[in-house]
Amino acid sequence: MDNKNWQEQYNDLARLSLQSPVPPVIGVIDNCKESFSLIRHSGGIPLSITELPLPSETKVFLNQIHGLLLAEQIEESLLLVRCAMDMQIPILAVGEGKRVLQTIYSVLPGSHDNQNSIPFKSFRGVDAHSASAFSWLCDEAKLYKEARRIHQHVVSLDTHCDTPIFFEQGIHFDQRDPHILVDSHKMREGGLDACIMVAYLEQQARDEAGLTAATKKCEKLLNDIDKYIGSCPDVAIAYTPDDLYRLKLEHKIAVMKGIENGYAIGQDIRNVEHFRKKGVVYMTLCHNGDNDICDSASHTNNEHSGLSKMGYNVISEMNRVGMMIDLSHAGEKSFYDALEASKTPIVCSHSSMRALCDHPRNLTDDQLRALSNADGVVQVTMYPGFLRLDSQATIEDAVNHLKHAVDIAGIDHVGVGTDFDGDGGIPGLADASEIINFTKHLLRKHFSETDLRQIWGENFLRVMRQTQEMGCIKF
Ligand SMILES: [Zn+2]
Repeated sequence: MDNKNWQEQYNDLARLSLQSPVPPVIGVIDNCKESFSLIRHSGGIPLSITELPLPSETKVFLNQIHGLLLAEQIEESLLLVRCAMDMQIPILAVGEGKRVLQTIYSVLPGSHDNQNSIPFKSFRGVDAHSASAFSWLCDEAKLYKEARRIHQHVVSLDTHCDTPIFFEQGIHFDQRDPHILVDSHKMREGGLDACIMVAYLEQQARDEAGLTAATKKCEKLLNDIDKYIGSCPDVAIAYTPDDLYRLKLEHKIAVMKGIENGYAIGQDIRNVEHFRKKGVVYMTLCHNGDNDICDSASHTNNEHSGLSKMGYNVISEMNRVGMMIDLSHAGEKSFYDALEASKTPIVCSHSSMRALCDHPRNLTDDQLRALSNADGVVQVTMYPGFLRLDSQATIEDAVNHLKHAVDIAGIDHVGVGTDFDGDGGIPGLADASEIINFTKHLLRKHFSETDLRQIWGENFLRVMRQTQEMGCIKF
């Protein structure tokens, strides 16, 4: 055993697997020979489905293809096509095959809203005009294959989701649960390895009863993460960046714990250490509304003009125990105060860019520069109201926000925190199964594999590692 840490060992392995020269594989549900020859012509390898796989083998089969040509209406193919859609596999439906899609859309509730995010095209029959359709499928399949390859080799982390607020309703994290946007199936489909789930506390009364209740609720939500997530097979609670690399090698989904709103500690600074010992990697200082730590970006009375006296103590305590300081939701003055006070770089786990969407929750270009100078990281969020105010935000807007963050803060200082299950989610990136789409969009914009490795986690994990190394509590 050498002295390399898990991240180094992981990167060594990833480096060994060179890009495969094999073109994408197109699955075909078809009897038409003509379509086969057209696909060959475009460089894809057609894989004929003469006998449809058994339902239990569906996913195994789909893991081998990068595009699907659907030219026949075969009843048994409904499940296969539905699963292909879940996995974001590009589909070209021609002739009778179009009815399969129509049937799926007619029986699945809510699927119409999702239609835009599934990369499929539907063409009238196979005729002279279809050559462009097949080349569309082959191009999409190539992009899909490259995105999948990258997700195999990169540890991907979504730094903010609010799924624990649904635990009370009884969820099934290890099943495809329609009540939540993040479960282990959707994460695998989307190529997402890890997420940070927060114990979210709405800002309420700051009297003794309110503060005690907040601490108690935080305790319960963190315990619930262990209960609902930790017990699932092939899923594990993670505490350090190294855990994430190790779990990826073990083919396990990883979940980390965070706190959204410093209200959770009440007025007892010892709770910072208490929650850190439970594995909490970051805490946002506030939520919507000022609290005892600082002023918020929204619903604020500028009570402290930034960070309070207690706020400064909280920051040095977070530094001491190795908990990251998260400035999403903090007011601008609080942001600068905290940046100045913290001995470690800071993060914004779910914030977008003010220059593109003028909302007080978003970061100005000056804030982005200050964050970057302090070696921190901003995680673009998929909350539609922080991406666009004049119309429905889409994945294109999210890509633009990320690009802007890269332009101002630099590629070393950006990432993604979706806010799934906390009202985050947009067409094209509506739940964890669509994470792969973001990678596809970034590949189209010529982001490299190295860029994607950084965006999908390495930047954020750099700050986490630094913070935890300086902290006294170890896992
Ligand atoms: Zn939030």
